[in-house]
Amino acid sequence: MKICFIVAMQAEAQPFIDRFGVSEAPGFFMPLPCKMYQTDIDGNKLYVVLNGQQQGSDLVGCEAASVATMAAIQQLHPDLVINSGTCGAFKKNGAAIGDVYISNGVMFHDRRVPGDDAWGTQSLGNYPIFDRAAEIANAIGFKMGKVTTGSSLDMQPCDLQIIEENHGELKDMEGAAVAFVCSLFKTPIMLIKSVTDLCDESAETFEIFKKNLAMASHAIADANEKVINYLLKKS
Ligand code: SAH
Repeated sequence: MKICFIVAMQAEAQPFIDRFGVSEAPGFFMPLPCKMYQTDIDGNKLYVVLNGQQQGSDLVGCEAASVATMAAIQQLHPDLVINSGTCGAFKKNGAAIGDVYISNGVMFHDRRVPGDDAWGTQSLGNYPIFDRAAEIANAIGFKMGKVTTGSSLDMQPCDLQIIEENHGELKDMEGAAVAFVCSLFKTPIMLIKSVTDLCDESAETFEIFKKNLAMASHAIADANEKVINYLLKKS
């Protein structure tokens, strides 16, 4: 089996990279800035693809995630893509900082396109998720929730309205873009997200995100390891 993780930030991926001893293939995606790490696990392939950097900082957001996902699928031909990273969540839904979720749905929350139902439906996305996601979440004991993606770290009232109308629980900046590209290639996708901040607790999202990033990234490494072991039937 070939499993490809798509991760936005180096800091989110580093504990996972260290845990699995994946090694970098420098320049693999040239001229794209995306970074590729790989290793073999008992005849299976584990790839970790990062969006890369521009202007000295990690490329977060949908455009970079789409590029990384497309390059990864075309060049690595994974059987499964896993978008792993951090997210905001809602205290009112029982979320706490450091919680890990596996997604049971993924859509955009900041694409407001007037028109008929077809435009509205396409804008929101709602892309298919790997059909074993619920089985995996149940077996490992992770919560499940719907990821909604937008291009900003903050949350405007119109974002919240769309999130609530669509029962979104986890707010990120890449998930739906990764899932969009996977839907085009019919590549199964799972999302594994750990919570750095609570969107309904404080407006200081960036400060809280920074404070909890290292802890949440270790939680993500633990979760990714459990999912890999389950998928590859290791204990
Ligand atoms: N300037 C920041 C960039 C972080 S952007 C820095 O220096 O670290 C936040 C990243 O974490 C994105 O990749 C996004 O997917 C995720 N994320 C965490 N909390 C989020 C939230 N509340 N809303 C949207 N994305 C969030």
